[in-house]
Amino acid sequence: MTQGTRRFRQEDGARAGTYPGPVIKAVLWDVDDTLSDYTSADMQGVIRHFTAEGLPCDEAAYLRWRTVTDAAYARFSGGELTFVGQRRERARAYLGAQATDEEADAWFARYLVHDEACWTVFPDVVPVFAALAHRHAVLSNSNAALQERRLTALGLRHHFEFLACSDQTGHAKPAPAAFRHACAALGLPPAEVAYVGDRLDLDALGAEAAGLHGIWLDRTGPPTTPPPGVHRITTLARLPALLSAL
Ligand SMILES: [Mg+2]
Repeated sequence: MTQGTRRFRQEDGARAGTYPGPVIKAVLWDVDDTLSDYTSADMQGVIRHFTAEGLPCDEAAYLRWRTVTDAAYARFSGGELTFVGQRRERARAYLGAQATDEEADAWFARYLVHDEACWTVFPDVVPVFAALAHRHAVLSNSNAALQERRLTALGLRHHFEFLACSDQTGHAKPAPAAFRHACAALGLPPAEVAYVGDRLDLDALGAEAAGLHGIWLDRTGPPTTPPPGVHRITTLARLPALLSAL
């Protein structure tokens, strides 16, 4: 259906009192590296933390931190570790396996002080919420309390009706149940919901498989053609026009 055809039908419906509204009624959002610049904050925060702890903080040290983080987080998303458990796992990579829970928690708490001081929002985020009249909610493979804290600190929390986080729902992306749970909370069929996230696999392809409109926010990648059914944008400035065209 062309844009012109759809406009005609919507206007025709409005005259008859049956205007169906926009096709996309709500947007579900990833948080880390989509709304918040997680990678930059993590890098700056961990450099400050390693410096304070007397640990090496060169490129190799940061790459090891990323490897440790990704491995532990995958076990959290897979249900093998709790959110606190994955933090302890990361801390013990530096303290040693013999570290107690209290020692690991204290080490990670010191890291969080530096990490939170570096939290920042991408510059295209605030303008896109001003430009969209859609309903919004969050779907994140994370801890609800942490994401509440992060979005509040970034001045974004008021945009979202709710935060659906995997530690509370028990469903992690890319499982279709994660996306469908969030759509059910919105009271909308997946076909009327778009999902915006920075990961092609977890976010866009997962959303598409669950029947949503998967939108891959690829800010830094080289030009590429996305898989069938996935929409790729390189900045959120492109999102309003894309949502209007779907
Ligand atoms: Mg992300």
